[in-house]
Amino acid sequence: MKTILAIGPHPDDIELGCFGTLSKFKDSGDNVNILVLTKGEGGTTEGDRTEESRASAKLIDANLYFENLKDRYISEGPETISIIEKYVELLKPDIVFIPSGIDTHQDHRTTYNAALVGCRLVQELYAYETPSTSRNFAPNFFVDITDYVDLKLKAVKIHSTQGGKGYMADRAVKGLAQYRAFDILLNDRYVEGFDAIKVIK
Ligand SMILES: [Zn+2]
Repeated sequence: MKTILAIGPHPDDIELGCFGTLSKFKDSGDNVNILVLTKGEGGTTEGDRTEESRASAKLIDANLYFENLKDRYISEGPETISIIEKYVELLKPDIVFIPSGIDTHQDHRTTYNAALVGCRLVQELYAYETPSTSRNFAPNFFVDITDYVDLKLKAVKIHSTQGGKGYMADRAVKGLAQYRAFDILLNDRYVEGFDAIKVIK
């Protein structure tokens, strides 16, 4: 059994970036953990986004951890690094997923930079893409999530406070997963793409 840790700056990042892959790990009997660094208070004036994360984590029985960093003001310095180090120490993950660092959202870039330090002893580290990730993101590691794409759509939909955003729509989430499959010559499949930052075997 492997221990997996996915780190997201905001509620919904992990669902959009790697929920299919996490579902697949869970199905294989692995221990899946989700760490969200902020409560996502900058993204909505109504509703409790932590409840949305709780409901989506429950779909795959993942352990969910929240930290209290300020939405839009995540630093890449010691405060964030030590939080990430704390979870790496606590959970001893074999594999960690973090947001891509080539992203237009400052919290994603800083989370990436802090995680590179906080996860320096982790054996396998991958970056996932989100709607704010740059077009220059070039995945080199792919997970076929065809059997889990419906679960991913369900998890994304749970974040109803974000529902008005175009990238939360089923066709947007499915479209990207389809595009990533076509990109590696897989027909009629759904894929999540990652940047493999470090893999030690
Ligand atoms: Zn985000």
